Amino acid sequence: MVGGGPAGCTAATILARRGWSVTLFEKDRHPRFHIGESLLPMNLPILQRLGVLDAVERIGTRKVGADFPASTPEGYNVFRFERALDATWPHAFQVRRDEFDAMLFENACSSGVQALQGHRVSSIELKGDGVTVSGATGAGTAFLCTARYLVDATGRDTLLGSKLGIKRKNTRHQSAALFAHFRGVTRRPGPDAGNISIYRFEHGWVWLIPLRDGITSVGAVCWPDYLRQRRTDNREFLLQTLRSIPALSERMEQAEIVGNLHATGNYSYACVRMAGRRWIMAGDSYAFVDPIFSSGVYLAMHAAEAAAGVVDGSLRNPSLERSLQRRYAGEIERGLRTLSWFIYRFTSPAMRKLFGNPRNDLQLEQAMISMLAGDVYRDNGVHWRLTAFKLIYFLTALGEIKAQVRSYFFRREQARAAFNGGTTGQDSA
Ligand SMILES: Cc1cc2nc3c(=O)[nH]c(=O)nc-3n(C[C@H](O)[C@H](O)[C@H](O)COP(=O)(O)OP(=O)(O)OC[C@H]3O[C@@H](n4cnc5c(N)ncnc54)[C@H](O)[C@@H]3O)c2cc1C
Repeated sequence: MVGGGPAGCTAATILARRGWSVTLFEKDRHPRFHIGESLLPMNLPILQRLGVLDAVERIGTRKVGADFPASTPEGYNVFRFERALDATWPHAFQVRRDEFDAMLFENACSSGVQALQGHRVSSIELKGDGVTVSGATGAGTAFLCTARYLVDATGRDTLLGSKLGIKRKNTRHQSAALFAHFRGVTRRPGPDAGNISIYRFEHGWVWLIPLRDGITSVGAVCWPDYLRQRRTDNREFLLQTLRSIPALSERMEQAEIVGNLHATGNYSYACVRMAGRRWIMAGDSYAFVDPIFSSGVYLAMHAAEAAAGVVDGSLRNPSLERSLQRRYAGEIERGLRTLSWFIYRFTSPAMRKLFGNPRNDLQLEQAMISMLAGDVYRDNGVHWRLTAFKLIYFLTALGEIKAQVRSYFFRREQARAAFNGGTTGQDSA
């Protein structure tokens, strides 16, 4: 197992509990900073199966929904998870990833995983009957390990994807994020105090994630053209960007940055394959989609559970490996496709309209909330409703285009009339 984040720790814990000897290599040392602090309700059953749900509750802030901009008196709409089609898990948690990941890592250790921190894997040799990985510790000591199966859970480092040359950047969806922890950000009232807030602005979008002890994670995901205009340092640029959004700037009047400011590329990518003979990828090591719906950690842990099933099944019965991997790939792709469709249209005028004025005919709004909760893998009535929503989206988009075309011709006619009127006036003078 390479990578000791949510995906690696989840897969390692499950495999060790099923009796396999698991070695996990993590290049850093926990606790270490990581981005990705807002979890989804569908994370909770996985955390429960791992036996860490109580621990997450202790370190987390309760999140009962997500709010998005709308033309309501408050200026936003809350999508509460209790209104999902299946509301068995009506909330999620916001967590500091240094604490969350360290806890998952310890849980893996206590489940029997040989988990080695400060071990960076730099080389992988895939053989027909297994794999050899090698690398060096932080102190420079070389190590080498041979195993019957490799799970690549190296996140955005995409160790195997890069080595095999099968990682493809999504050139249409590139952005970068600037983010920091703040103290003194005003929270939403009552039970909504722990919700994530999303703000749109002309050049991207902003998240606001309430954490414990009065800390709020605030980050701006910015399109590349906007970042290129930057004339100040990252800190001032982030503050300027946040100030440019009136509804957000109100909540941040008393806010101050605590600790370091972070910057990261945020581009989307996917690998051409996610599994092969005796290897499999889980989490960001395979694909990354824009984090606007806070789906990354859930997708990673869901994939890791499924990947552990593939490894376990393939080692017990090698003739099943290809069919298990095919089923795995189908499921992972399905979840990514469902979320990506909404994510990459999120800033379009039609989606703004539909998110700003949600309607629950045929329980479509509830299906959207289920999707926001991460319920994208089951056949429980979510998928056909999301398909119906897509149809409405296309009709709305068509309506928007028609309105724009009409307004263009109207303005042109007006300009022409004004011009003709002016010309006539001059002629008669
Ligand atoms: C700007 C931004 C905001 C985000 N916000 C959210 C959010 O609110 N909610 C959410 O759910 N997700 C969010 N995400 C996504 C989230 O961060 C990831 O999807 C999630 O962490 C994936 O988990 P993972 O285990 O696959 O990878 P990671 O969490 O990245 O873990 C990979 C681990 O592998 C280790 N590693 C890497 N290379 C090696 C190597 N060669 N040898 C040994 N170890 C190695 C790393 O040190 C790391 O610990 C966000 C992402 C970005 C970029």
